[in-house]
Amino acid sequence: MEEGKHQSRREGGRRHQEREKGRERDRDSVRQESRRTEKEMRVLEKHREKHRDREIGMLADLASLTILLSAKTPSIMAATTVLVFDFDKTIIDCDSDNWLIDHLGATKLFDDLLLTLPWNTAMGKIMEELHSQGWSVEDMAEVLRKAPLHPNTISAIKSAYALGCELRIVSDANKFFIETILEHHGLMGYFYEINTNPGFVDEEGRLKIFPYHDFTSNVSSHGCPLCPPNMCKGLIIERIKAEMVTEGKKRIIYLGDGKGDFCPSLKLSEDDFVMPRFKYPVWELITENRELIKAEVHEWSDAEEQEKTLLQLINKVAMADLSNAAQLIDCKLQTVPISSPHGTFPKILPVHH
Ligand SMILES: [Mg+2]
Ligand SMILES: [Zn+2]
Repeated sequence: MEEGKHQSRREGGRRHQEREKGRERDRDSVRQESRRTEKEMRVLEKHREKHRDREIGMLADLASLTILLSAKTPSIMAATTVLVFDFDKTIIDCDSDNWLIDHLGATKLFDDLLLTLPWNTAMGKIMEELHSQGWSVEDMAEVLRKAPLHPNTISAIKSAYALGCELRIVSDANKFFIETILEHHGLMGYFYEINTNPGFVDEEGRLKIFPYHDFTSNVSSHGCPLCPPNMCKGLIIERIKAEMVTEGKKRIIYLGDGKGDFCPSLKLSEDDFVMPRFKYPVWELITENRELIKAEVHEWSDAEEQEKTLLQLINKVAMADLSNAAQLIDCKLQTVPISSPHGTFPKILPVHH
């Protein structure tokens, strides 16, 4: 009985041990199972993280697109616009040569010189005369600093620059006059380039003015019948247009008033704009030869209208660029699958003939 009990207890013990072993095996396999599951979970988690990163990346892309499409965009878009200003009666509200000569009492002398000499040559000559009368370069600079420059023109220049436009000057005045006036108004830094007749102070302190195109050996070195012998603004515009291709610039807005601004107006294309000053020589020439002008024409009569018209144009072209960019983005978003849960694309079924 005891033996039986013992035996049964031993057997019971064996069964117990086997059960325990079995349980241990089960536990092991559960542990292994859970280890496997943990591993799979980690892989899955990693996969999810990756996916999340991609989603975050996409959201960031969308956010930057939103920024691109928001208020900052006109400034990005206006970066493809080049503004070309004439100087006399366009930036300043007078002719700098006449302003100086009249203020130094040399009007009659200058008119006499103009009877036989081209304007730019007469300017060079009158400088010699004024210096021999005792006027210094500083006297001249003092007079030039008083030339009228309207606050609306100043704010137009600053706004256009802030919007990202590139500003250039093409002028038949001279480097010394233009720089003296722009520096006085703190505007030098807004201009990318000034194309004008050379004008500098020599070692004797005399102001020397030379032609932009050297025509000493020729009547007209540039060969353009529309322009004065010292400067063809049309040729300068052609050079600027060639540069714009490599710089990724898209259009010119040209502002001018004089006869010399007609030739560059003819060089402008359909994407460009010309802003002639109302009832001034270039406006009259454009009005009489409307069929020769490819650019869109927007006239202005005073600084207030100049600023308003210019900024409206800059915004208009920026918005047009923006809508083109939005269409491009829209096309791209439609062709790129945003999410594909299994990372697979629909299979193309083979076609049997
Ligand atoms: Mg002018
Ligand atoms: Zn010309």
